[in-house]
Amino acid sequence: MIESTQLDPNFKDEIANEPGGEHILSCFTCGTCTASCPVRVVTDRYSPRKIIRMALLGLKEEVLSSDFIWLCSACYSCHERCPQDVRITELINAIKNIAVREGHVPPAFRVQVDLLRDHGRLIEIGDYDNERRAELGLPAIHEQPAEVAEILKVSGTIALGAAAPAPAEDDAK
Ligand code: SF4
Ligand code: SF4
Repeated sequence: MIESTQLDPNFKDEIANEPGGEHILSCFTCGTCTASCPVRVVTDRYSPRKIIRMALLGLKEEVLSSDFIWLCSACYSCHERCPQDVRITELINAIKNIAVREGHVPPAFRVQVDLLRDHGRLIEIGDYDNERRAELGLPAIHEQPAEVAEILKVSGTIALGAAAPAPAEDDAK
């Protein structure tokens, strides 16, 4: 059970002040977004309407530490159908940005940052891959980790890698 003292009434304003989150207060909980969502078809744990409702109620820690904000595939189906122009896809990005700032980064994303840093891409390209490409008449792919690592560094993303402080246990929920 959640005590009222655990609620953060300022959370909705924090989201509304984050780029992409400006329209959160327009939601009237119709559920059109959830009915439009392809992720919802795969898992009924996921509901954009529920995420917005929880955020409006001030369930800050529950929203930021949950894995379901990371399940959005940014398909924009909800965005196009919302009668209140809540712009849910951007709204979820705003919540993700707040989550990252507060140290809630899913382990899978940390691994991806490390792969980008080390290989310049999300999969390692080895000699075998390039030999197969040569057999197929395709040009070799060369990893360029230095350039990508620089982008990660300049954007601050590199700090989210697994080498950065580990997330709290709750983050993996
Ligand atoms: S479709 Fe729009 S108004 Fe309806 S629940 Fe989703 S965000 Fe709220
Ligand atoms: S943008 Fe995200 S929340 Fe909206 S319908 Fe697509 S997967 Fe679902």
